[in-house]
Amino acid sequence: MQTHKYYKENPKKLELHANSKQYAGTIKNFKAKSKTPMSWTWVLMIIFLTLGILDTRFGLLGIACMTAPLYHVFKGEGKVHCRKYCPRGSLLARLLENISLNKQLPHFFTTKKFKNTLLVLMLSVFSIAMTHAAPSLEHMAYAMFRFMTMSLIIGIIMGVIFKPRSWCVVCPMGYGAGLIDTQLKLKQTPHLKGDPLAIKRENF
Ligand code: SF4
Repeated sequence: MQTHKYYKENPKKLELHANSKQYAGTIKNFKAKSKTPMSWTWVLMIIFLTLGILDTRFGLLGIACMTAPLYHVFKGEGKVHCRKYCPRGSLLARLLENISLNKQLPHFFTTKKFKNTLLVLMLSVFSIAMTHAAPSLEHMAYAMFRFMTMSLIIGIIMGVIFKPRSWCVVCPMGYGAGLIDTQLKLKQTPHLKGDPLAIKRENF
């Protein structure tokens, strides 16, 4: 199966294979990815990492990364951040598409129990780190940078072994945003109550 890189370098092949069933999924994904800012937002993550290494005070920029999914959810746009903008998701996809072993993520990772545990664990670790660092803005920025980098490293390791964006399956930011979105939608669309599949469909 050809890669996104291949089609980018050979645009004519993309059209040539457009009617082929074998390539349908790849082409659909490629076109979908190319149309959204996610095709380039990985650059923002590289800039963030570079600035953070040069001066850890830039770690405060991590606030934007952490709050962006919530911003879209509260605007009523669901998990659009995960689908179209997320620099981390973009970097994982771009960086690992050609080196990932593409193994199937074990079912355990996809369970609510695991996602809830990871969400609570990461929120606790983050809160403790920020409490220890406060009130120094510099220390808080460093703690945030360290937190963001560590989670990215875990995401990269997962992406190398499993599918490139496996981290997105368990990501506390994406998962937390989804939980909040579901609650908001339940309030706004009571007719969906009791139909988790319908909510999920509107959710992502
Ligand atoms: S799940 Fe997390 S890493 Fe993946 S796209 Fe959403 S916010 Fe980004």
